[in-house]
Amino acid sequence: MVITYFGHGTGEDRGAEGYRNEEHDCREYGALVIKKFQSLGHTCYDFTPSASPALSLGQSLAYRVNKSNSIASALHLCFHVNAYETDKATGCEVEYISD
Ligand SMILES: [Zn+2]
Repeated sequence: MVITYFGHGTGEDRGAEGYRNEEHDCREYGALVIKKFQSLGHTCYDFTPSASPALSLGQSLAYRVNKSNSIASALHLCFHVNAYETDKATGCEVEYISD
């Protein structure tokens, strides 16, 4: 299976900062997830846009989606570390689209 990955990491698309640095955290745990997929025999491509030219958030998202679709990626993983203002929100989330 072909997998493309990563979110944030270019131009205005840096992720949340403050309590933690989202971009840093995503790169750290995302690398472990990708390493596991590769060990299972999957082909993985990092489609983070290059640093130049600096892209807006919308351009960065469009770049990753278009690149993933161009190679018919079976799965695109977009790593995030989301925040919420109270301690009521915990756990993880998975967003997906299907037919
Ligand atoms: Zn994010």
